[in-house]
Amino acid sequence: MTLLTAEALTKKYNGTTAVKNVHFSLEFGKCIALIGPNGAGKTTTLRILAGLLKPSSGKVTFTGQPGNADIRSFIGYLPQYPVFPGWMTAKEFLIFSGELALLDKKAARQKAEDLAEKVGIADALNKRIASYSGGMKQRLGIAQAMIHSPKLLMLDEPVSSLDPIGRREILTLLEELKQDMTILFSTHILNDAEEVSDELLLLNHGEIIEAGAITALRKKYQTSIIELEFQSSPEAFIQEIRKLPSVSTTFAERNVLKITAEDIALARADILQLAATKQWPLTSFQLNRASLEDMFMKAVKN
Ligand code: ATP
Repeated sequence: MTLLTAEALTKKYNGTTAVKNVHFSLEFGKCIALIGPNGAGKTTTLRILAGLLKPSSGKVTFTGQPGNADIRSFIGYLPQYPVFPGWMTAKEFLIFSGELALLDKKAARQKAEDLAEKVGIADALNKRIASYSGGMKQRLGIAQAMIHSPKLLMLDEPVSSLDPIGRREILTLLEELKQDMTILFSTHILNDAEEVSDELLLLNHGEIIEAGAITALRKKYQTSIIELEFQSSPEAFIQEIRKLPSVSTTFAERNVLKITAEDIALARADILQLAATKQWPLTSFQLNRASLEDMFMKAVKN
């Protein structure tokens, strides 16, 4: 069942178009990663969904609500750089947040304790936030974003500022939370997205360039590729390889050139012949399987 639909979202800041005609829908109960390199438009998209930013055009509809409804109460949002009052205890902060979300004091206290348990900070609930580690602050931020029991939890780069231990803790927490609610989180790391999410929305230069279930995308991009390793940069040979009719695409990464082809056997024969005739300084020639990672790297380098 569809939870939320974004239609033709565009956001322009003076001369910059941060988000261009973006369409997507989020399914109830899924964990979706909004993935893209720096500046792709992830934060802008999340802020529009959270109701913190007005799109220049387009709309966001929450299923069951009229098109122009205020949907903020359905959404919990943790910004990329949350600011906490370090002098408060986590409990005071969560109760205060609960009261801002119109819970009465008793309900806010109960909710603070329940959420602290859920996100794993119950033992430190009475400690001042200033004493919290980065990972604990992220847990607290997630608890705060859930204080009004939203249907959709959105997290902007929840692990990017954490060390490997904090990162692991938060990814594990997301794994647990996704059993209970729909989660949309942004990241620029494909591994993190693959680890916890069911679906990907790949954003580049403000546009969605690929979307779908991770399993379907893995299948789609798992084609055979030829990997040529050269003694130095392959730049000088790329043009000649591209001229071969059997070659579909090329993608260079340091000294390695990755090549896709519809007929991989024909491309292999053509390339081997060319390499032998021209005596290219090859150090290896391999036939491999391309991965989602290759697709992602290629997409974001374009
Ligand atoms: P990052 O991973 O670096 O946070 P992002 O994918 O979240 O990047 P956005 O922060 O949404 O990307 O930015 C998208 C584009 O919009 C960038 O080119 C950015 O410079 C521009 N931009 C964002 N906010 C503003 C603003 N307030 N005024 C002008 N331009 C902005």
